[in-house]
Amino acid sequence: MPPSIVYPYLGNLYINLTNRCPVSCSFCVKSSWKLSYRGHDLRLRRDPQPSDVIEALGDIKKYRELVFCGFGESTYRLDELKAVARAARERGSPPIRLNTIGLANLIHQRDVVPELAGLVDTVSVSLNTADPAQWRELHRPLKVYAERGFAAAQEFVKSSSRMLPRAVVTAVDLPGIDVARLEDLAKDLGASFRLRPRLAEAPETA
Ligand code: SF4
Repeated sequence: MPPSIVYPYLGNLYINLTNRCPVSCSFCVKSSWKLSYRGHDLRLRRDPQPSDVIEALGDIKKYRELVFCGFGESTYRLDELKAVARAARERGSPPIRLNTIGLANLIHQRDVVPELAGLVDTVSVSLNTADPAQWRELHRPLKVYAERGFAAAQEFVKSSSRMLPRAVVTAVDLPGIDVARLEDLAKDLGASFRLRPRLAEAPETA
């Protein structure tokens, strides 16, 4: 079976742009699930070109949402993400969401959110904690992102809440997380909040 660069799930169409991550989240199932997600093989032999993805989109109007989310950080491929989102818009796309760890501004060394305006409707940032030390423990970022990652992810949320229709902070339901504090932080950043079940235990969540 060829790897899926797009895959339908619970009424949405997900776009798998890369397997690369700037973090190695302690709760990640990427390795234990062998890069397979609910029957879809997400192990990319190479990062797909926008033309490959656009061709694979098919009839996007039948989905509730188009979501950039695979076993990897889509914003590593910012230009490709924008090209795909633009093409999807031209085809009458449903709302477009980006699921991210929130480090795009550090990765690209600029605020990239203005570039997403008009292309992405919702940014969903997996922040998981309001505590900087716990953020590092949970996400095990690459060294280059360890010191400034937590602050950068918050700035990304704040910028998204100002520039885009919707920003959401999410947390995986893990022991030891102060959910109330994180909810308050999300509010301060202008975002809504969503607690997600652990993927390893979740029956099915979008
Ligand atoms: S960002 Fe996603 S795919 Fe990457 S390590 Fe974290 S949970 Fe896994």
